[in-house]
Amino acid sequence: MKRRLVLLGAPGSGKGTQAEMITRQFGIPVTSPGAILRREKDLGTPLGIETAEITQRGDLVPDKIIVELIEDWLRLHGSHGFVFDGFPRTLPQAESLLSILTRLRTALDLAIWLEVSEQTVHERIGGRLQCRSCGFTTSVTSAKFAERPICPYCDGPLVRRNDDDESVLRTRLQEFHTKTEPLAEFYGKMSILHRIDGNRDREEVFKDISRLIEAK
Ligand code: AMP
Repeated sequence: MKRRLVLLGAPGSGKGTQAEMITRQFGIPVTSPGAILRREKDLGTPLGIETAEITQRGDLVPDKIIVELIEDWLRLHGSHGFVFDGFPRTLPQAESLLSILTRLRTALDLAIWLEVSEQTVHERIGGRLQCRSCGFTTSVTSAKFAERPICPYCDGPLVRRNDDDESVLRTRLQEFHTKTEPLAEFYGKMSILHRIDGNRDREEVFKDISRLIEAK
């Protein structure tokens, strides 16, 4: 199924989880600048080293770097549609995406906004474990992972993200409120914005997203 969609929402709103479920169910390719930057950092590439300090502080990486990553990705994989998890996060990024897609004579189908309460954010981020190898995300409260923090998909180590601590989270939320929230108006005006209650179980959220994808 070929769809072009962006997933927007605060840290811990479930963007990564839903992106993974969308790609499994519908075969739409997914990418996430955050995941790309973590991989680059682990590999010790110049890009990873250049951005590590910024992501560790919880600040947003400069738009130019992120837009280049997305353009490169689109050039290689964009012909089958896409799910962007965590892009765009600023108005200039949204404007760049619009002009890239216009140049490619195409357009976004959906901008899905996962709405979550501050309480949900703190609970999820406080208990989040992520596979260092494949990015699979789960909760530390899931007993089987607490006992044996190994990824069920690739046997990689499940660890806490180093930007998931409380003080960094405060900065990430601040960035979200000031720079990302204005995108609701941007996509609202384009009539492609859909707000979904992200406080619920992943399966319930996914049902709503699936309906939107199938209706397009
Ligand atoms: P995420 O994995 O989406 O939570 O992103 C982790 C970090 O990567 C963010 O806190 C930012 O530092 C950086 N990042 C990810 N996506 C973007 C983006 N679209 N614009 C700027 N920085 C980003």
